[in-house]
Amino acid sequence: MTRILLLGGTGDALKIARQLRPIDVYSLAGLGQVPDDLACAVRVGGFGGSEGLARYLASERIGLVIDATHPYAAQISANAARACRAAGVSCWALRRRAWQPQAGDDWRTVSDWNELIAALASFRRPFFTLGREPLAHLDEIPPYQFWTVRCLESHPDTARSRVMAARGPFTLDGERALFALQRFDVVVTKNSGGAATEAKLDVARERGLPLVMLRRPAMAEVDHEFATVAGLLDALRAHTGNESSGR
Ligand code: NAP
Repeated sequence: MTRILLLGGTGDALKIARQLRPIDVYSLAGLGQVPDDLACAVRVGGFGGSEGLARYLASERIGLVIDATHPYAAQISANAARACRAAGVSCWALRRRAWQPQAGDDWRTVSDWNELIAALASFRRPFFTLGREPLAHLDEIPPYQFWTVRCLESHPDTARSRVMAARGPFTLDGERALFALQRFDVVVTKNSGGAATEAKLDVARERGLPLVMLRRPAMAEVDHEFATVAGLLDALRAHTGNESSGR
């Protein structure tokens, strides 16, 4: 029976993990919550690069890796593809579809932090929704700006910033109330795709606000890519079903 290693750290990965068997393993980097109600095993922490992951695949007799990490977790995805090639193990990946701009949207795509800061120069109240990276730059905020940073971590407020520790999903009504209260004039985001954090795009459109969007990293080629959890689980059921029926 093929033993599966699922690389996770996202809500979609957790949905897949709930369908795994006791012989399978769900792997997390260790930054967020660790579920304790899964049938499969759960391991936490890095493998030590692609070589470490290739060694793990061999020693744990893994036959299939499923990369369901976040679209911006480029390092672990590259490691997974490389380690699978080296170990001769199949690699599947969940690659969530990117959000697409709609009529009336004003999206400004940037490639890195310096471009992002330059794109914000004419704004006063940016709303950062791209994780913890802004926390390392709170002492660089220009005197005319006030930053609101929403991420998983808590952090003390400063004279020119407020950090909101919060975990999605976020509702349309909740985002509407937050935008109205905080008077954001620009939203800073990754193009994460999916429904859990999409409401901010709708509210930015309603309020005519521009979005500064960090470009998605390129992802390594894998054996099979799936755009949805349902599609991946169908393929997985077919794969494990064929095994148990001996086909
Ligand atoms: P990353 O830059 O691609 O990975 C950094 C290192 O963390 C990897 O080289 C690996 O260490 C370890 N790692 C990452 N995911 C792992 C996993 N599922 N199991 C075991 N080790 C893992 O990743 P990141 O952007 O820091 O994100 C870290 C985790 O948070 C990911 O699992 C991702 O799914 C989740 N996440 C990320 C974002 C985001 O915006 N980047 C958003 C939501 C959730 P070794 O090299 O030592 O193996």
